[in-house]
Amino acid sequence: MTEPDHKNKKSLYQDDIQFRKDTGQIREYLDKSRFWRNVVLVLIMLAPLISFGLYYSAARSQVDQDFRSQLVTTTRMVAAVIDAGKHDRMVANGGNGSEYPELLSLLAGIHSQFPELRQLTTRILRDNNLYIVLDTDLAYGANLVNPPSGDLLKAHTTTTEENEGLRLLLGTGLWYSKDMVFNGEQAYQGACVLLPAAASADRTMLCSVFSADAWLKHINLLERNSLLAIFFTILASIFLAYSVLKNHVQVTKSLHLAEKQRDMFLEYSRTDPLTGALNRRAFDSAYVIAEAQLRRNKLPFALITLDIDHFKLINDRYGHDQGDLVLRALVQSLQKVIRPSDILMRMGGEEFAILCNLADANQAWSMAEKLRETAARIRLTTSDGKTIQFTISLGIRIIALGDNVVLAQKYADVALYCAKAGGRNKTVIYTPGLEEKLQTLQAAKS
Ligand code: GH3
Ligand code: MG
Ligand code: MG
Repeated sequence: MTEPDHKNKKSLYQDDIQFRKDTGQIREYLDKSRFWRNVVLVLIMLAPLISFGLYYSAARSQVDQDFRSQLVTTTRMVAAVIDAGKHDRMVANGGNGSEYPELLSLLAGIHSQFPELRQLTTRILRDNNLYIVLDTDLAYGANLVNPPSGDLLKAHTTTTEENEGLRLLLGTGLWYSKDMVFNGEQAYQGACVLLPAAASADRTMLCSVFSADAWLKHINLLERNSLLAIFFTILASIFLAYSVLKNHVQVTKSLHLAEKQRDMFLEYSRTDPLTGALNRRAFDSAYVIAEAQLRRNKLPFALITLDIDHFKLINDRYGHDQGDLVLRALVQSLQKVIRPSDILMRMGGEEFAILCNLADANQAWSMAEKLRETAARIRLTTSDGKTIQFTISLGIRIIALGDNVVLAQKYADVALYCAKAGGRNKTVIYTPGLEEKLQTLQAAKS
């Protein structure tokens, strides 16, 4: 019979260590990537807000810029035709114009260039038109800030001078219509009207209408489109973030499942289903560890093999199922006696082996005797009231450097066979030359 090559056989233990290393690396990667994943998720969520914020403010300032430059052009055009003279004051003021502080400061700037303006007012009515009124006289401008309902000119052309002014205005042939007059929400439709100085009132009044409609439309469109874009991008970000998170969770779950399955299969591959004792595979791994401890740290260990005496008779007498119960009962009792560091294995049939870690000859011997006495005390009652009791025989090998698991077992078995040949229900410890004694005993029997 050829012995299995134990040196080249990768032990389950080493294999398991490799698996744990690999899964540990994946876990470590997942833990590390969790931080960066969160950073990426935050960026994914913030990116559209930031980029659209930047885009909006750039676009908005461009639209505002355009509006302002148009305003400047119109206002300058208006201001350019103003009769330069003895005007020394301007009031940058007016109704809803206060919503446009930058406009007011702009107009104040214009005033510094055109000091002849006595009064400048702005007003935005509900039709989104911005009205700039530049007046070299204070009176009309003041009225235009808060225009009275109805016909302004009618209401305010009561004095001779004003009537004269109106007459002159009409007489100029310059563009004029009744719509030019404020009446609450209506306003000037013209672009620029120059009133030549009235005969009695030395004044020039100029009204400029500047439409803010296009500007507001632009802004509304910009806001609506930006909001839509942000909404869809956030939607996409949420979807992306969700799938990233889900992937992460799935990978973690798969890893957990793989580990769980590994543990389960490891357990299956290591245990004997009938008795729950470890099997040969697990035993080999344990032996490799114990042997390494012996080699490196001189920590002794022993191998005890044991076999139920006349087990065949038990099967024959009480049935195979009762034999199974005996095997289970024996394992349960032995497990209670051995130390947690000891390993119990079912080698096959009714033969078991125990790896006694950290045990010298004396300790192994007393352990074996304790096991033997324990087995002898086991009582099983069959369904028809019969009591089953049995004994075991044990052989011990104190492991020496150079023993491998097969050799160790061989020596322990020689001792076990001696115990059997010597009458059973016995413990024998292997000593060199025991093989001859066994042969003698066997010869004497036959
Ligand atoms: P000895 O004292 O010399 O060991 O005699 P024995 O009868 O115990 O030894 P033998 O090798 O002749 O018989 C072992 C028996 O164990 C034979 C086999 O049917 C039985 N056996 C092996 N595995 C099982 C098992 O899983 N369940 C049961 N019930 N019997 C088993
Ligand atoms: Mg037997
Ligand atoms: Mg046997």
